[in-house]
Amino acid sequence: MEFTNEQKMLRETVRSFAIKEVAPLAYEIDRDERFPSESFKKLADMGLLGITVPVEYDGAGAGYTEMCIIAEELTAVCASTSACWCTHTDLCIDNIRRNATEEQMKKYLPPLCRGEHIGGMAMTEPSAGSDVMSMRLRADRKGDEYILNGTKIFITNGPVGDIFVVYAKTAPEKNAQGVSAFIVEKDFPGFSRGKKFEKMGWRGSPTGELIFE
Ligand SMILES: Cc1cc2nc3c(=O)[nH]c(=O)nc-3n(C[C@H](O)[C@H](O)[C@H](O)COP(=O)(O)OP(=O)(O)OC[C@H]3O[C@@H](n4cnc5c(N)ncnc54)[C@H](O)[C@@H]3O)c2cc1C
Repeated sequence: MEFTNEQKMLRETVRSFAIKEVAPLAYEIDRDERFPSESFKKLADMGLLGITVPVEYDGAGAGYTEMCIIAEELTAVCASTSACWCTHTDLCIDNIRRNATEEQMKKYLPPLCRGEHIGGMAMTEPSAGSDVMSMRLRADRKGDEYILNGTKIFITNGPVGDIFVVYAKTAPEKNAQGVSAFIVEKDFPGFSRGKKFEKMGWRGSPTGELIFE
């Protein structure tokens, strides 16, 4: 595959940033098990959070190749920073960009792309990992709202996130067809954070439990 000149320049820019700014923090964030806030802010200032998002929502208007280039360069110096960034940029932001309504995109994408909010994605449950369709988290409609009940585990950015794309069953009898995605803000009633997991590696990428009741 041939990279364009812009993609080659992007790689050089991110590589130089990663070596100068991300690598020196790698040991500390791993030791202290803390989210790399400094690098996250700088990635936002460089316009590298909303890679696939159109510019009108404060994104970069680029694509998956650019996303892979950035992921490679960040991962080369700090897997934790890369995991935080990938979860925010891909699992949360790109998910909203692909699947949300216009109204949701207008509300959620700009602050996520500017790094004012941290994003995550919650799919895994204590009894639903690889077999994700066995998830139990329920979303029951009550008037104009859905009430979510259940627990998600191993959620990257869970302990620090502001906005989560959460998968829940709206119609369990329909199996995979009965699963929907919801955008949940950290201040929504009934949302709380559970345990933060202590890991052997990627310790600078906080992983936690989310509770919906
Ligand atoms: C650091 C970290 C960050 C994560 N971040 C997120 C996140 O942000 N959001 C989120 O939703 N989830 C997240 N996860 C969860 C991750 O997606 C799950 O761990 C993964 O789906 C596997 O599920 P499990 O851990 O329950 O393992 P299991 O499903 O129990 O699998 C255990 C082992 O059994 C194997 N196995 C399972 N089923 C079969 C089968 N039928 N045949 C053969 N082998 C099988 C698997 O390959 C694996 O080796 C994270 C996990 C980690 C470790």
